[in-house]
Amino acid sequence: MMKKNLQDAVNEQINKEMYSGYLYLGMSAHLARANLPGFANWMRVQFKEEQAHAMKLFEYLLDRGGRVTLKAIDSPPATFGSPLAVFQQALEHEKKVTGLIHKLYELAEKEKDHALAGELQWFIKEQVEEEKNATDIVENLKRAGAQVSALMFLDGRLGQRQG
Ligand code: MG
Repeated sequence: MMKKNLQDAVNEQINKEMYSGYLYLGMSAHLARANLPGFANWMRVQFKEEQAHAMKLFEYLLDRGGRVTLKAIDSPPATFGSPLAVFQQALEHEKKVTGLIHKLYELAEKEKDHALAGELQWFIKEQVEEEKNATDIVENLKRAGAQVSALMFLDGRLGQRQG
């Protein structure tokens, strides 16, 4: 059985992962409205990934005999600006999530819950990937600048992402 403070912290992270999903779903809608279906697709796949992160923690808590407590999910912003601004916000968000995962890991270590710390190793690695993916797109969008053809090329490429 997990300690109560660790259960609370994992429940909090489940909520944060659900919010991440909600944020990316909002970004997907914003990009779809901007006639960028490929970018919108990428964000929609990201939404599903975040739900999978939440579910991984949800299952883990249940496996440990813990109590899942679902809380209200915050509303994401309604608008996000240019495609570059969208992905810059996504990158900033992922950096924040990395910080949260690291804090959770440190708490698990402090409480000597080695099993939870081990489980969180997966999330620590995943965050490296998340930050890398968002950074790549930010860099590509910066390079594209105001060139519509470069933007369309990127849109086509991100449209190929499958989830
Ligand atoms: Mg996540």
